[in-house]
Amino acid sequence: VNALGIDIGGTTIAGALVDAGGAILESSARPTTATRPEGIIEAVADLVAELDPEGSAGTVGVAVAAFLDRTRSNVFFSPNISWVDFPLRQALTEALSRPVRIENDANAAGWGEFRFGAGRGAQSLMMLTMGTGVGGALVDEGRLIIGGFGSAGELGHIVIEPGGRPCGCGNRGCLEQYASGTALMRIARDYLEDPGLTPDGLARALEAGDPRAMKAFVEVCDAMGRGIASLVSVTDPDVVVIGGGVAKAGPILATLIQQHFESHYPAGGKRPVAAMRVATLGNTAGVIGAADLARISPTLGP
Ligand SMILES: [Zn+2]
Repeated sequence: VNALGIDIGGTTIAGALVDAGGAILESSARPTTATRPEGIIEAVADLVAELDPEGSAGTVGVAVAAFLDRTRSNVFFSPNISWVDFPLRQALTEALSRPVRIENDANAAGWGEFRFGAGRGAQSLMMLTMGTGVGGALVDEGRLIIGGFGSAGELGHIVIEPGGRPCGCGNRGCLEQYASGTALMRIARDYLEDPGLTPDGLARALEAGDPRAMKAFVEVCDAMGRGIASLVSVTDPDVVVIGGGVAKAGPILATLIQQHFESHYPAGGKRPVAAMRVATLGNTAGVIGAADLARISPTLGP
């Protein structure tokens, strides 16, 4: 049976009708009106009406960049959208007149990769996304790990540089300050002495073998490798998936991260080491994962 997945991002709300094999049958999008929370609810209702006018998909899966409570009912806080202690599930259920299954966006993307992408077959999956920040997701024994208060898997906020760069979370030295797409661009602009450098420009400089661009890239891979080497001690994953915008760099990214990760791996060389893979679903992982979660666990929460 088909399911609907919605991914509420900082700039775009993406929606897709997804079949049971994870294939997107139809998709559409609306802009995110970050300053007007009701506008987001309306846009989601609009997308749902467009993609599934008959209501045959049932529960709607919604991924959102936010700290959620354990029952996936309320948003504690969202860094990009002006929601604080917002009853998102109730608001969406009323607006859509159908059941809604909410999940954190990185968790939904990690679930999508676990079910249909680079994480297929993993016993224990760790996913990290290198984008605006560093998102994370953990899957173990075929279940998403959501934690006692709902915020497990916020892997971008482990500290790798005590007293380091300030982070939006209020701490200093978090992984996402050194290993996100934002960090990569900041470091590359510095090394290339080009404040207007774009991600495409950086990709071209890397392709051309510019040593300054390569140095920035290696530095970010080193930070991510060190972060993962600490994180593996928590869940001992057999597969680590790297996603987000930076993952477009492809196999070179996985190879470099793997090198740095293995050189810091606890008890390295004396036990199995996680396989490092680049995400395969791209920016559709969120809608695919959200749709699948709506299909298989539609009743999470009261
Ligand atoms: Zn942080």
